[in-house]
Amino acid sequence: MKDKKHSNFINGEWIDSKVYITNSSPSDLEDIIGLYAQADAAECEKAVTAAKEAAPAWSESGLEQRKKILDMIGAELIERSAEIGRILAREEGKTIAEGKGEVFRSGQFFQYYAAETLRQMGEIADSVRPGVDVEVRREPLGVIGIITPWNFPMAVAAWKLAPALAFGNTVVLKPAELVPASAWILAEIISRSGLPKGVFNLVMGPGREVGEAISTSKDIDAVTFTGSVPVGRRIASNAIKNMAKIQLEMGSKNALVVLNDADLDVAVQCAINGAFFGTGQKCTASSRLIVEKGVHDKFIEMMIVAMKKLKVGNPLAEGIQIGSVVDEKQYKQVLDYIETAKSDGAILVQGGEALDLKPKGYYIAPTLFKDTTNDMTINREEIFGPVACVIKADDYDHALAMSNDTEFGLTSGIITQSLARSAHFKRYSKSGCVMVNLPTAGTDYHVPFGGRKSSSYGSREQGKYAEEFYTVVKTVYSKPY
Ligand code: NAD
Repeated sequence: MKDKKHSNFINGEWIDSKVYITNSSPSDLEDIIGLYAQADAAECEKAVTAAKEAAPAWSESGLEQRKKILDMIGAELIERSAEIGRILAREEGKTIAEGKGEVFRSGQFFQYYAAETLRQMGEIADSVRPGVDVEVRREPLGVIGIITPWNFPMAVAAWKLAPALAFGNTVVLKPAELVPASAWILAEIISRSGLPKGVFNLVMGPGREVGEAISTSKDIDAVTFTGSVPVGRRIASNAIKNMAKIQLEMGSKNALVVLNDADLDVAVQCAINGAFFGTGQKCTASSRLIVEKGVHDKFIEMMIVAMKKLKVGNPLAEGIQIGSVVDEKQYKQVLDYIETAKSDGAILVQGGEALDLKPKGYYIAPTLFKDTTNDMTINREEIFGPVACVIKADDYDHALAMSNDTEFGLTSGIITQSLARSAHFKRYSKSGCVMVNLPTAGTDYHVPFGGRKSSSYGSREQGKYAEEFYTVVKTVYSKPY
C-alpha cells in the first residue's frame, strides 16, 4: 500500500502527475500512508476548465438527482467511518476516535445538504408599482474553488463541498499538502457517486502553485478557504482582482472564562477538552483560560490533577486521548512558543516538553502556564498545539474585557452558574460562536459556524446559512396582466 500512487481526479478521470509526494504519519515516523500526486498550475487550469464546462448542465440538474448523490456519499462515509477514520488519524496524528468522529460528521454534512437540496425556496413580494409582481430567487454561482487546511482534512472539505454541490455549483478541491489521503478517499467515493464528469475535481498540490492558480483564475466564481490568516489575506487579494466571491475561515485565540461561581469540575472538563483534545490543533481550541481570582488557585490545582491523567501517545492505540502534532514544523513551532512563554515570564505548571514515545513521532506533553498576561505573545498568537495559558481576572468585567481583547473572534466560552452573567456574556462576547458551560471546541452541523475580526471574512458556513455564499440572488419583476 505504501507504494500505491494516488492521482488527481480531473474531468471524471484519474490523472497521473509528474511528481508524487510521500504521505507519512506524524505519530509513527516509520508509517508510510502512500504516494500522492502533486498537480502543477497547468493541471489545475484543466480542472477549472472542466468545472466551468460542467457548470451549466449541473446548475440545471434535477434536485432529486443531487439529493440522491449527496445522500449516497454521506451514507458511505458514515458506514466506513471506522476504516477511513483510521487513515485520517494516521496522516493527521489525531486519535482514532477523533478520526472516526470526523469521518462520521463529514457524512452528516453530506446528508444534511442532501435534504437541503429540496428546501431551496425563493420569496414573493408585492411591488410598490400596481400590477407588478416581484420574485426573489437564488441561483448557483458557477465554479467554486475550495482550499482546505490539514487539521480537519475531511470535515472542512465536506462542509464546503456538500453545500457547493447541493446549490448547483461545480468545484475544484485543493486539500492541504500534509493530509492528502482523506481528500483522496473522499474523491474516490465521489467518483463512484454518479456525479457528471467535471462537476467535482480534486487537485492535490502545493498551496503556492495550485492554491495560487485557484485564487487567481478568471474562471473561478468564488473561493472558499479555511486556513491561516496570512494565506487568507493573500487569497482574498488575488480573488478580488477577478471579482470572485470570497469566504475565509481562519485562526483564533479563543478564551474560556471561568467565574468564581463555576462548577469547577465542569470548568476543568471543558478546559481539558477545549485546550488539549485534537492535540490543541483546532481553530476553536481554548488556548486562553481566563479565571476569576477567587477560584484561580483551585482551578489550576484541579487542572494539574486532570492533566496528569491524560493519556498521550500512539493515536491508533486503545484509550489514547491525545495524539501527536501534525509534522516537524508544527512540533518545533509549539516547542518554540513554550520557550517564548517562559522567557516572557509565564510560569510552567504542567508539561512543557517533547515526549519520546514509541512509536517515534511528534509528541508534546499537554502544557499549562500560569501568571500569564493577555498581552504576552503566547496569548496573542495562535500556538496550534496542546498548550493553554491561565490569565487571572479581578472580576467578571475584567474577564470579559480580556476575552474580547484579541485580534480574533471565532469562539468563546464561559463557565458559570449565574443566569445573569451567562446572559451578559452571550450578548457581549465578540465571537462568532459562544459557549456556556461547554468547551469552546465542538459545534453542530446544522447551524451557522464562523467568527469575527481576523477569524472570518464573508458569510457564514454550515446549516441553512451556507446558501448565502454558494448562491447568487436574483430579483425578478414582472407584469403578467
Ligand atoms: P495554511 O493557511 O498554511 O494552509 C491552508 C491551505 O491553503 C492549504 O491547502 C495550503 O496548501 C493552501 N495555501 C498555502 N499557500 C497558499 C497560497 N499562496 N494560495 C492559495 N492557497 C494556499 O493553514 P494550515 O496550516 O493548513 O491550517 C492551520 C490554520 O487553519 C490555523 O490558523 C487554523 O486556525 C486555521 N483553521 C481555521 C478553521 C476555521 O474554521 N476558522 C478551521 C480549521 C483550521
